[in-house]
Formats: sequence, C-alpha cells, structure tokens
Amino acid sequence: MPVVTDFTRAFWSGGRASELRIQRCGACRVWLHPPKARCPQCSADDLRYEPASGRATVYTFTLAHHVYRPNLLMPYVIALVELPEQPGLRVTTNIVGCDPGAVHIGMPVRVTFEQIADSVYVPLFVPDLT
Ligand SMILES: [Zn+2]
Repeated sequence: MPVVTDFTRAFWSGGRASELRIQRCGACRVWLHPPKARCPQCSADDLRYEPASGRATVYTFTLAHHVYRPNLLMPYVIALVELPEQPGLRVTTNIVGCDPGAVHIGMPVRVTFEQIADSVYVPLFVPDLT
C-alpha cells in the first residue's frame, strides 16, 4: 500500500479521473517524477500536477517471481516506462494485460489504473494496440 501524503495525493488519486498526473514545474515547465519539493532544474517551488498523455514505452523490465501479496499472477512484470512528454521521464510500474513473455524493450504501452483503496489508484500499463 503506497504511503499517500499531501505531496503525492494528486498522483495516487489521478486514476479516479483516468489521469496519469505527473508533477511539473510552473516556472520552467520541466516534468518531474518521482515528485520533488523543489525543481532540480530551476529551483522554483511552484510545482503542480498536470495530466500526462498516459502513453509510454517500455524502457526496461524484469520478471518477478516473489509473492508479496495473495492472488498475484506469477510471474509479474516490473517495468520502467518512459513517457513521451520528456526524454528521461520514467515511471516504475507493472505491465499487465498480456503474457509476461511478450513484454519487450520499446513496447508501446498505455496507462490503466487499479483502485486499491478509497482514493488510491495504482497506475499500471497495458500494451497499446492502437
Ligand atoms: Zn523548474
């Protein structure tokens, strides 16, 4: 269960509106993930969340066989996906909705959400077949 703070609430609740919300600097417009208290590029503290497109490509991934919660299908895919909004903007996630053996680097994916608590929606990614 992720620890939701005032700082990260917009990220975890974005799934309610089907939005992948990523922190962005209001001064220099750089996207930031994971969230930061101050922009590492221009030092501004005017950081807000904006919806990203929800599209991404698999940057790298691994197959995990460790059971950390019941009812989890094995193996599952832990991936780092890169968002098209900015080079190097990457999110750690799981790839779901396909055979784990079909996942490959460069694969187009799009966000989906799994609600795990009242206002907590975990962003997961599925193959983007569009
Ligand atoms: Zn900035």
